[in-house]
Amino acid sequence: MRLVVDLNRCQGYAQCAFLAPDTFTMHGEEALMYDPEPDDAQRLDVLRAAHACPVQAITVEDLDGAPDGEREATHVA
Ligand code: SF4
Repeated sequence: MRLVVDLNRCQGYAQCAFLAPDTFTMHGEEALMYDPEPDDAQRLDVLRAAHACPVQAITVEDLDGAPDGEREATHVA
């Protein structure tokens, strides 16, 4: 799986780092570091993190590629 974080939108709330610590880590108060291609074992944690992000900054893509429209639809929590 692949993911993108819109760092312009990210406000450093750290919900993602709390829910998926193997994929997202905070450096300092606001700098987010993340693994853009986490192992599939992280899938559930990453999806939880994406849903929990208060500003919807995390977009998750499957490597087999959902069409753009579907990807947007799954983003609306
Ligand atoms: S939960 Fe969202 S806003 Fe908070 S650090 Fe993660 S990506 Fe940024």
